[in-house]
Order: sequence, then C-alpha cells, then structure tokens
Amino acid sequence: MYDLIIIGMGISGISASIYAHRAGLKVLLLEKSAPGGTINTISEIENYPGFKSISGPDLAYKLFTEVNDLGIEYKLEEVTDVIIDKTTVIKTKNNVYETKFLLIASGRRPKLLGLKDEDKFLGRGVCTCALCDGPLYKNSPVAVIGGGSSALSEALYLANIVSKVYLIHRRDEFRGENSLIKEVEKKDNIELILNNEVTELVIKDDTLTGIILKDRQKLAVKGIFIYVGYYPNTDFLKQTNILMEDGYILVDAHNETNIKGVYAAGDVTKKEIYQIINAASEGAQSVVYMTQKR
Ligand SMILES: Cc1cc2nc3c(=O)[nH]c(=O)nc-3n(C[C@H](O)[C@H](O)[C@H](O)COP(=O)(O)OP(=O)(O)OC[C@H]3O[C@@H](n4cnc5c(N)ncnc54)[C@H](O)[C@@H]3O)c2cc1C
Repeated sequence: MYDLIIIGMGISGISASIYAHRAGLKVLLLEKSAPGGTINTISEIENYPGFKSISGPDLAYKLFTEVNDLGIEYKLEEVTDVIIDKTTVIKTKNNVYETKFLLIASGRRPKLLGLKDEDKFLGRGVCTCALCDGPLYKNSPVAVIGGGSSALSEALYLANIVSKVYLIHRRDEFRGENSLIKEVEKKDNIELILNNEVTELVIKDDTLTGIILKDRQKLAVKGIFIYVGYYPNTDFLKQTNILMEDGYILVDAHNETNIKGVYAAGDVTKKEIYQIINAASEGAQSVVYMTQKR
C-alpha cells in the first residue's frame, strides 16, 4: 500500500514526487513513456526561472536525475485503469497497485487535423514534435499549422534547420506571445499564411510531397508540423466518477477532484494557463494540501 501514487512523470508529477518524498510519504511514480513528459519535445525553454534558456530534453534529464538522486520509486508502466473504492487501485498492463492518495498528472497529447491519410503518415511527413523530427527535413520546405505560442516557437526552431517554413493559421491573427510573433515576422524564411487551412495532403509514391489549402493553393512541403490543440490523457479514468469537462479534470483550489483523496495537476486539468511553471506548482501544492489532510 502506497501513501501516494502519481500517474505521469512530467514536470507536474515529478515536482509532486519531490514534495511527497520530503514529507516522508511512501510514493510511487508511474510513467508510460519518457520521464519529463511534454518537456522532452520542446526545443528551447526561455521562461522557466533559474534557466535563461534551456533545451527541453536537458530540463527533463535534470528532473529525472533528481528523482534518481533522491531515490524516489518510479516504474515505467502505462496505467490502464483506476478503480476507486475504500482505497484506490491502479492497474497497469502487468501490475496492480493500491494507494491512499492518488495524483493524476498525465498531461495531454497533440490533436491532429482530421485529414485523410494523416494517421498513416504520422512520423513520416506528419509531425507533432519539431525537436524530434525537425532534423529529418533539413534544407527542405515544411509547414507549421497553428496560431498559439507552441506553433510560433516551433516554427522559429524549424526555420534554423529547414529551407522554408509556411506558418499557416486559420484566423487573421496569432494568439501566441507577442515577443514570439515579432520574432516570427522578422524571419526571412518564414512565410505567414493567415485565414487559411490545410484541407488535403498530397501523397506521391507513398511519400508526402505537399498540401492543399482551403483556397486551393498547393504548397510543396516535405513535412507538416501540427500545433492546433490537445486531448487530455484521461482515458484510463473511465471506471471512475471523476468530474471532467471536455476530458479535462475539474479540480478545486487545492487541486483536489470531486473525489476525496484524488488530486489532479498540470495539463490534464481544466484551467486557463498551460505552462511549465504552473504545472510544477500545482503538483507541489496538491501534495502540500493532501499531507495537511492525512
Ligand atoms: C511544443 C510545446 C512547446 C511548449 N513550450 C513551453 C515553454 O516554452 N514554456 C512553458 O512554460 N511551457 C511550454 N509548453 C507547455 C508545457 O510543456 C506543459 O504545460 C507542461 O510540460 C505540462 O506538464 P505536465 O506534467 O502537466 O504534463 P506532461 O509533461 O504532458 O506529463 C504527463 C506525463 O504523463 C504520462 N502519461 C500519460 N498517460 C499515462 C498513463 N496512462 N500511464 C502512465 N503515464 C501516463 C505521459 O507519458 C507524460 O510523460 C510547451 C508545450 C508544447 C507542446
């Protein structure tokens, strides 16, 4: 029996685990993919205190090192089900764990555009991570789809690798940070295409060769990078009565859900700001509040 199980080893789950460890809780972190979570996909982070600039994988590595140095228990297993009764039971593919408190810090995953053949070409033409896949398109033209800070910052990152970036947004202005908009506007090899949308992928010999836009304009690109929104990772909660809105978990000011002892923090929760700094703080504060209730 654990005092606390944390689902997800992103910045939120890892911050929580550090607080839990210091509070003397018997804590277990569960992660289905890479420790560090979404941070692993960010090219450069320039708004996290303590680091004027740091690459996402470097920050993820520092977090993972801290977990190891502190001796916090973690397992690389995907949670498939959560059953909440007198205690909370967490099922993974091969194991079953029991815990008094649960913290869900499972983040969210990128949305795609819903185009024909999009899934088939995911990872070979259709991408959601510039840092991971950008180098595959060195000196080739690509398109970035989206209008928020993620799309802007990743377009800037790609512009240093590829020959040209078409930045395509369906509205007439970007909604990302002003400083990023200014930088994008200054870049010679980023062409802004506003009030337009991708409607088709052009495939030739089983390879992506271009895209067609709503106005029938055809662009020759070798890759498209999609930043148009996210789905929260809450599928494994289907056997619970945790309240959600659009799949995002609803929490109170203490990060507790409608179920006593079950907390949620970071990008998986319904909130206004999805940033590293508040994901970290929500993870930490949820543990502080739960230890007060022990
Ligand atoms: C391209 C991009 C650029 C960004 N740039 C910045 C930036 O410059 N500055 C900034 O402040 N923020 C930035 N953000 C936002 C920031 O990355 C997130 O707000 C933050 O990393 C979220 O942390 P988290 O711990 O809530 O979730 P995540 O980091 O997503 O962690 C969730 C973890 O849970 C795991 N998980 C999910 N389901 C399961 C399961 N069933 N079982 C086990 N594990 C599971 C996932 O594998 C993942 O590791 C950016 C985001 C993107 C996509």
